[in-house]
Amino acid sequence: MRFSIQSRRDSQSNELKDLAKTYLQDFGLILDDDEPDIVISIGGDGTLLHAFHHHANRLSKVAFVGIHTGHLGFYADWKPSELEKLVLSIAKSEFNVVEYPLLEVQVHYHNAPSKRYLALNEATIKSPDVTLVMDIELNGDHFERFRGDGLCVSTPSGSTAYNKALGGAIIHPTLQAFQITEMASINNRVFRTVGSSLVLPAHHNCALIPVKDQQFTMTIDHIHLIQNDLKCVTFNVATEKVRFARFRPFPFWERVHDSFVSNE
Ligand code: NAP
Ligand code: MN
Repeated sequence: MRFSIQSRRDSQSNELKDLAKTYLQDFGLILDDDEPDIVISIGGDGTLLHAFHHHANRLSKVAFVGIHTGHLGFYADWKPSELEKLVLSIAKSEFNVVEYPLLEVQVHYHNAPSKRYLALNEATIKSPDVTLVMDIELNGDHFERFRGDGLCVSTPSGSTAYNKALGGAIIHPTLQAFQITEMASINNRVFRTVGSSLVLPAHHNCALIPVKDQQFTMTIDHIHLIQNDLKCVTFNVATEKVRFARFRPFPFWERVHDSFVSNE
């Protein structure tokens, strides 16, 4: 088995990385940063987002596992003190793999080829300085004209991240779905949006179509993009999935409880 380790690069994460590397090599595992079977992310959920994007072109061949050196994470749910246990489980291949859905984002331009991205948490779209104005289509039908700060389109596992801060629902990652959440929509007697976040199933799609020739800023997880000449952006549940190595049960709702309610 081949492994790779991604560190947040603080001293604690780096020390754990060196330790894990030595242990795993002692067990005969091979360090391979290009084509690993398992990627160990040491840091936070943000570190796992980096690891995910590094291997996004070979998701069916890799499993991820996260150790948190800060607070408990949703992807980084192992404690540093559990490192030896984790190494043993990896060495003996004693783990299950769970698959979570991803968001497919396709960006279409008037005068350039389209681009395709996968998001593990979410994609957001905003327009700097001026109100964002976009038409929202669901499955090809006009739904509403949105005016406001922006829109967030998230995966189920990303629903506990930015989406939650915007008042969106927490969605269990076994559901093949994606969620559209508003950022400060303008609502008065003239302008109207639905106001609630929308949860769409796997066979649905959403398109955001600029009304004016604006510049937009987009994010795909931690990645920032500036968009000019935008024709439309479409979203749907991707055919690809992200695979997480599971060594012991730690149910999603328990992670939600321990992260947001209390860790007792
Ligand atoms: P960051 O600014 O360090 O991350 C913001 C926080 O989101 C961190 O505490 C991070 O955890 C946490 N987080 C990431 N994924 C999560 C998940 N799936 N569930 C619960 N919490 C999660 O930036 P970053 O580390 O590069 O992460 C990028 C993410 O930040 C974006 O995908 C977006 O979801 C989130 N974000 C949130 C807000 C907001 O809540 N207002 C605004 C912008 C961006 P760690 O500390 O463990 O890394
Ligand atoms: Mn972070």
